Amino acid sequence: MRLLITGGAGFLGSHLCEFFLARGHSVVAMDNLITGRVENMERLFGEDRFTFIKQDVTQFIHVPGPLDAVLHFASPASPEDYAQFPIPTLKVGALGTHKALGLAKDKKAVFMLASTSEVYGDPLISPQRESYWGNVNPIGPRGVYDEAKRFAEAMTMAYHRAHGMPVRIVRIFNTYGPRMRKNDGRAVPNFITQALAGKSLTVYGKGSQTRSLCHVSDLVRGIDALLRSNVQTPVNIGNPSELTILGLAETIKRLSGSRSRIVFKPLPVDDPKVRRPDISLARSALRWRPRVDLEKGLLSTIEHFRRG
Ligand code: UDP
Repeated sequence: MRLLITGGAGFLGSHLCEFFLARGHSVVAMDNLITGRVENMERLFGEDRFTFIKQDVTQFIHVPGPLDAVLHFASPASPEDYAQFPIPTLKVGALGTHKALGLAKDKKAVFMLASTSEVYGDPLISPQRESYWGNVNPIGPRGVYDEAKRFAEAMTMAYHRAHGMPVRIVRIFNTYGPRMRKNDGRAVPNFITQALAGKSLTVYGKGSQTRSLCHVSDLVRGIDALLRSNVQTPVNIGNPSELTILGLAETIKRLSGSRSRIVFKPLPVDDPKVRRPDISLARSALRWRPRVDLEKGLLSTIEHFRRG
C-alpha cells in the first residue's frame, strides 16, 4: 500500500508512519509542524519508501502518484494546544477533513479519520459506547476540538453516503507513550516531567476525574485492524481500565522513584468527569484488545522521558 498520513510528524502520526513502513508499505507524511516535530520522523528519513511534505492540510493538497489510503491525523490534540491554536484546530477538523476526503476520493483511496473520545464531551453515561451522542459544550474552550471532530465525522459519513467512499472512523481515547511532547500540557507528560525534575505534580481539581489510558503500540495495532476491516462506522479504540487522575499522579510518582509532592490546581473548564471506552465493537469486529499493562507502559515511557 501507499498511504498518506496527515499529521505524520505528530505523536500518533509518527508512530503510524513507523508501523506501516516496518510492514513494507510506502508512506507520505504531511504536516505543517505547528505541533508536530521533525525530530519525531528522524529515524524515517533514511527510508526510501518515506516522503515528508511540509504543508497545511487546510490548503489545496496535491500528492503525486497513487494512494491506497488517506489517514487524516492532523490536529492539535492536547487541551493546551487547542486552547493555544483554536482557529487552526477548527480549520483542520473542518477544512482539512474536506481536503483530505477530496484527495481520497480522487485517488480512490480508503479514508480514515482520527476522531476522539472528546466527541462524547463530559459524558453522562459510562463506559461510552459508539451509539452515545455525547454531551459537548459547543462554545466552551474545548468546543473548538470537540466540534471540529464531530463535524469531521459528519463530513466523513456524508462522503461515504454521497459518494460510496470507503471510510473508517477511529474514536481515540487517551493515549500515551514515547514522543509525547514534554510541554503538551497533558497529564502523562506533565506528571512524568514534574516527577523526574523533582517538581510538584500538578493535579487539577480534586483529581477524582477519571481517564483510561492506552499505550500507543496498542492504539496503532487497533488502527491497523480497523483500516483492514470493513467497518464504516465509528469504532472506539482505547484501554477500558479506568483510573483517577490523582491515582495516575501517585502511580507515576512511585514508578519514577520521585520524592515530589502532589499539589492541587484549579480544574479546567468543561474537564470531563469520567472517560472510559466500551470496546465491545473493536473486540468483536476487529478482534482487537489492548495488551500493554498500564504500569509497564508507564515505566517504559518514563525511561524514554529520562533519556530525553
Ligand atoms: N490534568 C492534571 N494535571 C495536569 C494535566 C492534566 O490533573 O498537569 C488532568 C486534566 O484536568 C484532566 C486529566 O488530567 O482531568 C487528563 O488531562 P489530559 O490533558 O491528559 O487529557 P484530556 O483527557 O483532558 O483530554
